[in-house]
Amino acid sequence: MADTVYDVIIIGAGITGSFIAHDLSKCECNVLVLDKAADVADGATMANSAIIHAGYDPKPGTLKALLNVRGNRMYPEICRQIGEEYRACSAFVVATDPEESRILDELKKNAEDRDIEYRDISGDEARDAEPNLSKDVIRALEFPTTGIVYPWNVAIALMEEAVLNGVTLKLNEEVISIEAPALGADKDSVRDKVNGGDFYRVMTKKDTYTGRIIINAAGVYADKIYSMALGHDADFTITPRRGEYYVLDEMEHPVVSRIIYPVPGPSGKGVLVVPTIHNNILIGPNSQVSDDKEAVCTSTEALTKVKAAAGKTVSNIPYDKVIRTFAGLRPSGGDGDFIIEESGELAGFVNVACIDSPGLASAPAISEYVLDKILGNMLPLKEKQEYIHRKPFIRMYALSDKEKNEVIKDDPAFGEIVCRCTLASKGEILDAIRRPVGATTVKGVKKRVGPGLGRCQGGFCEPNVVEILAEELGIDRTEVRYDSEASVILMEEKGVRS
Ligand SMILES: Cc1cc2nc3c(=O)[nH]c(=O)nc-3n(C[C@H](O)[C@H](O)[C@H](O)COP(=O)(O)OP(=O)(O)OC[C@H]3O[C@@H](n4cnc5c(N)ncnc54)[C@H](O)[C@@H]3O)c2cc1C
Repeated sequence: MADTVYDVIIIGAGITGSFIAHDLSKCECNVLVLDKAADVADGATMANSAIIHAGYDPKPGTLKALLNVRGNRMYPEICRQIGEEYRACSAFVVATDPEESRILDELKKNAEDRDIEYRDISGDEARDAEPNLSKDVIRALEFPTTGIVYPWNVAIALMEEAVLNGVTLKLNEEVISIEAPALGADKDSVRDKVNGGDFYRVMTKKDTYTGRIIINAAGVYADKIYSMALGHDADFTITPRRGEYYVLDEMEHPVVSRIIYPVPGPSGKGVLVVPTIHNNILIGPNSQVSDDKEAVCTSTEALTKVKAAAGKTVSNIPYDKVIRTFAGLRPSGGDGDFIIEESGELAGFVNVACIDSPGLASAPAISEYVLDKILGNMLPLKEKQEYIHRKPFIRMYALSDKEKNEVIKDDPAFGEIVCRCTLASKGEILDAIRRPVGATTVKGVKKRVGPGLGRCQGGFCEPNVVEILAEELGIDRTEVRYDSEASVILMEEKGVRS
């Protein structure tokens, strides 16, 4: 059992836990992050539309509305600071009939009330800018501050800086039970115990950790984590909503250059057509309630509906360019809003739960809210004098030929192309493995550098990535995993290589 008493234990290293860990790492406090996965951002943060929504559609008066608008404004500067890509690609929300046009009026009112920049344009004006927009579109609202990121890379970068600044991250640590101190809801009592006494004990399959404050950022499992601490059922339930997507290959002239949204409906934002940072296109997601918190499967039936829905707003989608389908689970629950509060029953236990869409866009503002409104009342949160920023990633595709040659002169591994689709080099892969919060799996390399994201989906480069991981981690090739412990890639006998 570990002796350290942590000021804060964060359960969950998705975008929510990563932002909170990063912000806490700027303060004098002792933080532990636990995640059951082998990498940061393997939950909902890995499988979503990657959009930093402008914030015009959450219901007025909700935390979603407040934090989405604020988060959207925070992202560009944060991404600049951590050296991650952010593109303000803009978005059209389109109406195809008078009833949908009435919904645009509601969104326009929200935008005005929230001081969100927008343009109200006709269908023809919208088609001038996006020639593949359906001929049925009669009107559009443009939201120029809508952006896109690689959500998992933002989370990894935040966690890397958090670790560089003293946060302890433990992956492959599934929380299986929590003992709450005998404090109940006596909030003064937990404040008094900041310097000693009776603490939370968090048990994983490997160890037990002791902490004063627990942040529950466990995504679809946040209800289970809270129930563990309470010793009875939580007062909210998370019922995942699955969203499925097509991914189109990177194209010089993608079918759209902005995000195209239909008007929102009862089950959310609807099926979107979304450009990515590398000019792929995502088409999705649908919204299907699931009683299985692990069911990230796709089905022909759901994807056929996605195709039909996308066809209402965008024509000429080249489905012959599909390179992959995937699904993500929205951690939906409660009354539809985010739950961000200290438990009424357990002092020092903070739920950051039901973080479904727009959870990615809101994440920096969620963290700010947690520190300002909740943790600030429990801990001194004194800002550190010095802060270490992470070393920027060298991304060869983004460099000029001259810059590439200079990098290769310093380290020839950056001239050795491993992935033919994304042109990722061995140097970039080695850097991704060697960094703090480095990749330890094939998917970890894919997330950080790209092999496996492209047209061949790893068909050509995966054996080389396995070889590099084995060499760097000092393990046998058969011990290299795709992502989880169960995802065996090579079955050969240990040490026998053909
Ligand atoms: C289909 C889809 C589309 C979306 N599109 C958008 C979008 O475009 N824009 C937007 O703003 N939002 C979007 N969202 C929402 C966004 O993805 C989520 O709000 C966000 O990723 C939630 O992050 P999180 O860190 O709270 O949860 P997660 O990323 O799920 O992280 C939770 C973490 O907790 C860990 N964990 C769980 N149980 C345990 C345990 N027992 N012990 C230890 N660790 C545990 C998990 O391994 C996981 O890493 C979308 C979501 C989906 C599914």
